[in-house]
Amino acid sequence: MYRVGLGTDSHPFDDNKPLYLGGVRIDFPKGLAGHSDGDVILHAITDAILGAIGEKDIGEIFSDKDDRWKGERSSTFLREALRKMEEKGYEVCNIDCVIIADEPKISPYKDRIKESIGNIMGIDSSLISLKGKRPEGIVVEGVMCQCVVLLRTCGNES
Ligand SMILES: [Zn+2]
Repeated sequence: MYRVGLGTDSHPFDDNKPLYLGGVRIDFPKGLAGHSDGDVILHAITDAILGAIGEKDIGEIFSDKDDRWKGERSSTFLREALRKMEEKGYEVCNIDCVIIADEPKISPYKDRIKESIGNIMGIDSSLISLKGKRPEGIVVEGVMCQCVVLLRTCGNES
């Protein structure tokens, strides 16, 4: 049995925060605004997994009105989504992510980001695809990420 999930996230730039993408600290003068560390990639993956297993979305589970999650690292959210996924008997087949931003450039960080996501999720980084895309004429004052994830029931090797 297979399930597919889609996650989309975006955060505006914030001059007073460090930038984290996929759990990797990016050398860039601006971070991303948000209740947590604003890591759009981890948020999109979290939401894709939650969607695939038919759970509530990231904003409902980790409300920005809840002080417990203030300043929280986004890997916490992703690990919680994985816990729910495993509880339901699923594992990750693969993940495909698109980062949409004029800046920063993603290519120098691609491998490190994939490795970081793989470490957080406990999967091989070869199962993760990451693409940078420029918004081509559409003004994006921040970073957007779209992610699709395919899950299968554990033990299903086909
Ligand atoms: Zn977010």
